Amino acid sequence: MYHDVVIVGGGLGGLVSSIQLVNKGYKVLVIEKYSYPYNKVCGEYVSNEIRPFLESLGLNLVNLGAASINRFLLSAVNGKSIETKLEMGGFGLSRYTLDFELFKIAKSLGVEFAENTLVEDIQKINDVFFVETNQGETYEANVVIGAYGKRGKLDKTIFRQIPNQGKAYVGVKYHIKYDFPKDLIALHNFKGGYCGISAIEDDKYCLCYLSDRNNVKHSGGINEMEQEFMYQNPYLLDIFTNAEILFTRPLVINEINFVPKSAVHNNIMMVGDTAGLITPLAGNGMSIAMHAGVIATSLIDKFLKKEITREGMEKTYEKEWNKNFRNRLWRGRQLQKFFGSEFNSNLAVSMFSKMPFLLPPIIKGTHGEKVEGYD
Ligand SMILES: Cc1cc2nc3c(=O)[nH]c(=O)nc-3n(C[C@H](O)[C@H](O)[C@H](O)COP(=O)(O)OP(=O)(O)OC[C@H]3O[C@@H](n4cnc5c(N)ncnc54)[C@H](O)[C@@H]3O)c2cc1C
Repeated sequence: MYHDVVIVGGGLGGLVSSIQLVNKGYKVLVIEKYSYPYNKVCGEYVSNEIRPFLESLGLNLVNLGAASINRFLLSAVNGKSIETKLEMGGFGLSRYTLDFELFKIAKSLGVEFAENTLVEDIQKINDVFFVETNQGETYEANVVIGAYGKRGKLDKTIFRQIPNQGKAYVGVKYHIKYDFPKDLIALHNFKGGYCGISAIEDDKYCLCYLSDRNNVKHSGGINEMEQEFMYQNPYLLDIFTNAEILFTRPLVINEINFVPKSAVHNNIMMVGDTAGLITPLAGNGMSIAMHAGVIATSLIDKFLKKEITREGMEKTYEKEWNKNFRNRLWRGRQLQKFFGSEFNSNLAVSMFSKMPFLLPPIIKGTHGEKVEGYD
């Protein structure tokens, strides 16, 4: 089965790429491991840099119940906190809803989907890609986009070396009901990690944290770890004591790290977390994933129209990716060093309390310009 473009992974990067390409008249297939809609570990705070673009696709965020968020509170392990206004701000919407809405738009425009399907291998012979799935299908394509998230078995199959250096984290998410302002996002430090809370649709809140994997090993389980490490921060103790947790069990992902990766590998155009994952404290991994999809697909369009060569497409994409995102990811990694440590987080909060004017430019350093709907 031949397609102009096969997209591996139907998260935000993959979905946005598929919409951009089908709008340009290409035959596009998205292969996704799960079936829509589904929950995903994510803080669910979307930076407003991508809002105009999403609205240009026809997404009505107000009707979907997205919460408008423009204040930020940071607490240290000892419970001291500071608050600042968010210059650009963002909105809160669950991934269950956001991904599903984009999936519906893509489908209505004619994107084909293979759901509940895992890509196991991607080979390129001459100028044709062969994408093999666990359902026994092999799809042929002129271009393949890798949008399969942080890292996976597929990286090994396609001989993509991702260094194992740096700390490995686990990510955990709950939806909760809790008495908390809807226009505020808070990040609470605990030893070995940090936890975000912000409003989403339907009067619910997303509680999501990143923890050093060793915390979980040390405590022997997620709930034990929460009690041993997270309850030390009075804000988190209050949340876990008084919130109504709406999930029967936490949603957990493993093996998260933030090492730099490549934007192109074996001629596969990587978008979103597959090209590079920004530390969640920046609150804009989703915007970056979608923005990267927009950049990649405008170059793929030029390649498919034979205006540029494959090599030209890949080189320009790498250059654009670095120009737009590399420094932001680096700043996110540096900032993360102040999180998850009792000493550093206490120091950072006490410093920002004395010099509050320092915080907004730091937040700005991990954000980009607003992405409009563009070709
Ligand atoms: C704990 C945590 C909190 C975060 N909080 C925020 C936040 O508040 N705000 C923010 O902007 N960002 C946040 N992020 C980052 C954000 O979640 C990601 O940057 C974003 O999801 C990237 O989108 P993506 O499309 O690249 O990947 P994903 O959304 O992960 O999509 C990848 C898709 O590929 C599928 N897939 C994987 N392997 C295969 C395969 N072999 N075959 C077929 N399908 C496959 C998966 O099922 C998945 O649907 C957070 C990340 C973490 C870890």
